[in-house]
This record gives sequence, structure tokens and C-alpha cells, in this order.
Amino acid sequence: MARADIGLIGLAVMGQNLILNMNDHGFVVCAYNRTVSKVDEFLANEAKGTKIIGAHSLEDLVSKLKKPRRIMMLVKAGQAVDDFIQKLAPLLEAGDIIIDGGNSEYRDSTRRCKELKVKGLLFVGSGVSGGEDGARYGPSLMPGGDQAAWPHIKGIFQSIAAQVENEPCCDWVGEEGAGHFVKMVHNGIEYGDMQLICEAYHLMKDILQMEQDEMAKAFEDWNKTELDSFLIEITADILKFRETDGKHLLPKIQDTAGQKGTGKWTAISALEFGVPVTLIGEAVFARCLSSLKSERIVSSKQLKGPKHAPFKGDKKAFLEDIRKALYASKIISYAQGFILFRQAAQEFGWKLNYGGIAMMWRGGCIIRSVFLGKIKEAFDRNPNLQNLLLDDFFKREMDNCQDSWRRVVSTGVQFGIPMPCFTTALSFYDGYRHEMLPANLIQGNVAKTFAKDLELFASSASALFFSSFAE
Ligand code: NAP
Repeated sequence: MARADIGLIGLAVMGQNLILNMNDHGFVVCAYNRTVSKVDEFLANEAKGTKIIGAHSLEDLVSKLKKPRRIMMLVKAGQAVDDFIQKLAPLLEAGDIIIDGGNSEYRDSTRRCKELKVKGLLFVGSGVSGGEDGARYGPSLMPGGDQAAWPHIKGIFQSIAAQVENEPCCDWVGEEGAGHFVKMVHNGIEYGDMQLICEAYHLMKDILQMEQDEMAKAFEDWNKTELDSFLIEITADILKFRETDGKHLLPKIQDTAGQKGTGKWTAISALEFGVPVTLIGEAVFARCLSSLKSERIVSSKQLKGPKHAPFKGDKKAFLEDIRKALYASKIISYAQGFILFRQAAQEFGWKLNYGGIAMMWRGGCIIRSVFLGKIKEAFDRNPNLQNLLLDDFFKREMDNCQDSWRRVVSTGVQFGIPMPCFTTALSFYDGYRHEMLPANLIQGNVAKTFAKDLELFASSASALFFSSFAE
């Protein structure tokens, strides 16, 4: 007898929390796990007193679901997902739905979507963001895949997702692996946002010589501006935090940042597609540089920086400059992320829901911010917007910030402060707004390298000129 609205495979932290979230919203969930003993443990503990039911085999799971069957997996990305699909597919009927909510690589999701379509099964690869707490109380959900599945899962997904101004942070993203692609770029943008905040902190600390509580206050103030976001909020908390001995914790934390890989995947995709997503790339490299701690200790004693006098300008004004530099750089980062979406859509023939993507990130996930509402508005104004920077609102914001941004970058360079993301964002802005770039000289160099004499050079250079026009 079919009883459950959805089946969920994977009883580690994400799966358990998502099941409890679904239960809170009135859905009956049937839980299953490879190590079957965990099903009974879950039912006896975390799920006690709920409507959640369990299954002890995949056959048992399938028999307990309403049709079309909806089965969501939250298991380790990679082979485990393929193994479950292989075992599940023969047990299912045409029109049944398999959802992968893990951190899968988007090309795997595209492959799985195609393979299951042939069998009449509908595959959804969904980004799930917000970690354990998000899963439990409202994640950002980014589903993509076979769109025929969407009407059957929309109710559950939009109920359990985070809500912002009564709108769910979940909508249909697009075809095939689009959901996981968007989740990947989301993680890359998260790297960028974190690095930008680190650069602002470095400038405050080393140029303005601000104390930690003073910096915490600045971030608290910034959180009441355009920068209102989860990451700015927790930065203030981290800066304020003192241990029981009364001393701040932050200086005791090792200054090396690791990475799980999705930021790197975003940068690799950008290179593959030839899209200048420079800020996320620099954010990944900044983490790589931070991890060279022992080399940095040696070089700090040998390599000289610039000689400079202490900062003598207006401290309050420069702090506002840093805020604006951070805001402008953040706009560039999101603009670059959306160029990557556009290129992927073109490469794979996806119709991506650009405004919806911004909405999905407004709540439930680490990059949640008020600013994302402005991106949604830009795509509402013009769904075919080529680049966010060309939207009237963002054009004005960039113009309003650029003097501050340039002062911060030039002062930071004079003080020898590394600001890979502030600087690459500004270079992108300046490059993007130039009708003429010096790439003509690259073309000239290419032509001259291969041309034996000047006449041949002239003809090959003009051929290059025309070929670049033709493209
Ligand atoms: P996890 O540690 O990534 O995976 C544990 C789950 O996968 C268990 O149910 C485990 O079953 C199952 N599993 C592992 N290898 C398997 C295999 N070879 N065959 C079958 N099942 C296998 O769990 P998680 O942290 O809850 O994450 C679940 C998914 O969500 C992952 O893809 C993760 O990347 C993604 N995610 C995690 C977070 C987070 O904050 N943790 C946030 C967003 C997304 P057994 O109990 O039998 O070992």
C-alpha cells in the first residue's frame, strides 16, 4: 500500500535533516539507507513521534511510495549515486522521479538525466545549499533536469525551502545538469564573497590600524547598507568573539584556507568556456597562496615590500571607500557568474531562469543577501540582459562606487596589501568598458611571429583582423 509522499535515501546529516524538514511541512517521508540499521536508529531517535516511516530494502521503499514515485538521494557524490540509480531503475515505472540532492558534478547529472530519460524515468539534479541548518529549517534549493518532474516535486521543494518575503528560495533552474551547475557557481561566488571580505579586513587592519572591536562595529554598520548579508553579519560576530581569557579568537586561527573543490570547478568551467570569471579564479588562488604558509614564513623575512608612511588621510572616509570597493567588486563577481551561466546555457542549449537563480540564493544559503533582490529586479526588467553591469541600477552603482574603489586599490598597492579580488574586479570593469583593448598587439605579434617578411606580415595581420571580425 502506497503511503509516503516521497522516499529519501541517505541518513547522514543532510538526509536526516531534510526528512525532518519535509515532515514538519506535512509530507510523509519514507527513509532508507545503505547501512540499514541506521533506518531503525533514525526512527527510534530523531524521527520518534513523527509520521516518518522506514524501509529496509529498495524494494520495500519503492512499494511504500505514492505514484509517480519520488525518490531523493542525499548520499556521497560520485559512484554511490550511480550505484543507487542502477539498483533503483529496474524497480521503477515510467514517469517515476529520481532526485539527486548531493554535491554532484553537473556533467554527471546531465549524463544521468539522459540515461534515465531513455528508460522513461525523470531525473532531477538539485543543488542543496545551506548546510545542516539549511536542510533542517529551509535550504536554498536549485533543481534542474527533466522538467516533466517539476510539477510533481514543486509542492514539496517550495514548501521546505527557505522563504524570503513569502517567496520560496527554490524554483526550476533549467535542463539536465543545470541545477548542479548553478550550485557549483553558487559555491564559487561564496569563495569570492569570502575573499572580498578578507581583503576589506586586511585593509582595515593594516592600513587603518583598526582594532578588532572597531572592525566588528564597521561590519555591523555595513550590514545595514547595500552589503546586508549573512557573511557580513557573521564577520562582525567572528571579529567580536573573545575566548574565556578575554582575548579575541581570530588572531589565533591559522591563516591558511582549504577548499573542497566546487570553487575550483567553477574556475575550471570558466576556463573551458573561455569566460572571464576572474574574481572566483583569484579567490581560489588566494586560498592556494594562503596554504603556502611555511614558504610565506621564509619569504616574509627575505622579500621587501614598499616603503610607506603611516596612513594620514581621513580614516572615516577611507573606511567608506573600502565599503564601496567591496560592494563594487561584489557586483563584478555576480556579473561574471551570470556571464558563465549565459555561456553554459548557450553551450548546452539550456534555458536558464536567471532571475529565479538570484531569488533562490536570497535565503537559506551562505551567500544570502539583500543585494540578490536587485539582481532579480534587473532580470525582471530585462530577461535578456547581456550583462548585469548594463542594467541601469548596476550602472549607477558602479559609477557611484568607482572613485572609492580606485582610491582603495591604489592605496592598497602603495601599502603592499594583497587584494587579488578587489584588483581583478576593477581590471575587469575597466576592460569590459573599453571599446578598444590592446589585444590588437597580440594579434599583430601572432601574425609577425609566423610571417617571414613584412608584406606577408601585413597580409596575415589583416587576415587576422578580418577573421576576428568574422567571429
Ligand atoms: P555524506 O557524508 O556525504 O554521505 C553519507 C551518506 O552516503 C550515507 O547515507 C552513506 O551511507 C552514503 N554512502 C556513502 N558511500 C556510499 C556508497 N558507496 N554507496 C551507497 N551509499 C553510500 O553525507 P552528508 O554530509 O549528509 O551529505 C550528503 C550529500 O549532500 C553529499 O553529496 C554532500 O556533498 C551534499 N551536501 C552536504 C552538505 C553538508 O553541509 N554536509 C551541504 C550541501 C550538500 P552509509 O550510512 O551506509 O555509509
